[in-house]
Amino acid sequence: MTARRSRLSLDQLERGVRACDRGVLARAVTLIESRNARDGEQAQHLLARLLPATGAAVRVGITGVPGVGKSTFIDELGMKLIARGKRVAVLAIDPSSQVSGGSILGDKTRMQRLSVEPSAFIRPSPSGLSPGGVARRTRETMLLCEAAGYDVVLVETVGVGQGETAVADMVDFFLVLVLPGAGDELQGIKKGVFELADALAVNKADGDGAIRARTALSDLKSALRYLPRRRASWQTRAVAVSGMTGLGLDELWGVIEEHRAALSASGELATMRAEQQRSWMWSLIRERLEQAFRDQPAIAAALPALERAVQAGTVPPTAAADQLLAAFRASRS
Ligand code: GDP
Repeated sequence: MTARRSRLSLDQLERGVRACDRGVLARAVTLIESRNARDGEQAQHLLARLLPATGAAVRVGITGVPGVGKSTFIDELGMKLIARGKRVAVLAIDPSSQVSGGSILGDKTRMQRLSVEPSAFIRPSPSGLSPGGVARRTRETMLLCEAAGYDVVLVETVGVGQGETAVADMVDFFLVLVLPGAGDELQGIKKGVFELADALAVNKADGDGAIRARTALSDLKSALRYLPRRRASWQTRAVAVSGMTGLGLDELWGVIEEHRAALSASGELATMRAEQQRSWMWSLIRERLEQAFRDQPAIAAALPALERAVQAGTVPPTAAADQLLAAFRASRS
């Protein structure tokens, strides 16, 4: 058994994060993920102290179906950025961790070079939190990483139709990776995800895939012409890349820089981030209200049976919700 490490003070945490001590950063993230009220309070105090040191990183969301090549791509892109002198953090939002109790995304072994790179920080998706809780924790972890001096934060999510909106809601630039192949370029890109994209990257544009990727790219480019503008100062772009060979990654990073310049000039970057702050406040309110609700003894006692009854169709969801909310109100009056 390992001895329980002593608790770090707020000052030690703040100093460690600002000095980019990855061990302290990891412990600060653990506080953010903790369900313990004292940890949660300390995490929020820490964030309040660090907020003035945040905001400088380029925040990029990356999604795509399993197998599209996200980890290979992030490993290569991350290494390229590090070669340019940048520090890179990789965070993950994995809706499937709710179901499986484990996390596929952000697993360090998926990004072999980045995982041993001193200039990189990789944090897998936490399990045991609600989807809203995972999103909130990722947003807060991103801020800790910025205060630690990471220049680029990559937020990865698996493209299964959940989680993408939460990621798009916390980043500056949202990238969707797609596969080349007959009709495949639209596979997995549900219309909603398509509309969230600032750029689409046709991945695996190498070897036998090169020609298919070129075809897919020109199809995508014509489809994009009919898509409404993503923002007043930005039209969604498409590029061909290979995470394996690195092809197209410089071009793609150029697109991300161009996007930043355009949105900064138009004032949209500031407006978007202001809106994201508001959204963060609401996600905290929702999460804490739900937690207070679940923690109420009368609710905790009634919930399992009522949930089963709703699933079995013997109690309508509306009646169950009314009954629980009435019990919650009664408990607080
Ligand atoms: P993820 O599930 O989206 O993270 O995908 P992975 O990065 O694990 O890649 C899935 C599979 O595709 C693996 O077998 C990779 O070797 C392969 N792969 C990933 N990127 C590329 C690429 O750029 N080109 C080719 N040809 N294969 C790739």
